[in-house]
Amino acid sequence: MPGEDLESVIEVDFEDAVFGVEAEVSVRTAVVCETCEATGAASGSGPETCGDCGGAGQVQRVRQSMLGQMLTSTACPTCSGRGQVIPNPCSHCSGEGRIVEDRSFNVQVRAGVDEGTTLRLTGRGAVGPRGGPAGDLYVRVRVRSHPVFERHGVDLLHRLHLPMTQATLGVVLEYETLDGVEELVVPRGTTTGETFRFRGRGVPHLQGRGRGDLVIEVHVDTPTELSDEAERLLRALADERDEVVADEDESLISKIRSAFR
Ligand SMILES: [Zn+2]
Ligand SMILES: [Zn+2]
Repeated sequence: MPGEDLESVIEVDFEDAVFGVEAEVSVRTAVVCETCEATGAASGSGPETCGDCGGAGQVQRVRQSMLGQMLTSTACPTCSGRGQVIPNPCSHCSGEGRIVEDRSFNVQVRAGVDEGTTLRLTGRGAVGPRGGPAGDLYVRVRVRSHPVFERHGVDLLHRLHLPMTQATLGVVLEYETLDGVEELVVPRGTTTGETFRFRGRGVPHLQGRGRGDLVIEVHVDTPTELSDEAERLLRALADERDEVVADEDESLISKIRSAFR
């Protein structure tokens, strides 16, 4: 009889899911009883052929039915279908040939693995009773979120907030990708929703070669707190561009605000 398949979960960091990592997985499982070496029998004894089924594991019964006599075959209740009984069971495992234990294994998480991926470790499940082969261990991968990047398949997305001045006049930023610092050139007149792309700075393809892209989506921020000097400069700018704005009267501005809420 083979052992059970088991399930476990590991949590890995965002960067580790992108670049791959060796992680440790812990699981409560059944392992071979060392005392009886999986036989289930106390030392000096061994399994014996079941007397009730003669080792066949099956017993036949004659049953009366409306169609006459019927012969049915069922698992032998004495040996549970095993064909053997252990008259003197191992006290360590109660004759099971296996005991429950916590085990941990190292598992290789491949570069590019995403949230919810399940890894199958063949033969790392519970061992079967009395020397039966081990089942498999299924490990579900959970990926911790990143403060900046979002996964979209093999692409990474960053919603980058830019002050109005940088978006309007342009700027060259020292931008931290997962591979290190690179130059991000934001040209003059960049608007909300525009995207920039670092090709090959995303997540590796699980099948095949290459990596996805790092996509930066710009959101231009409107300044909400203004110093007196900033207010003066903005009003001068509005004036220069012939743009009508609310006057400086605080009460009027708060009236306008509340009218739109
Ligand atoms: Zn044992
Ligand atoms: Zn039997």
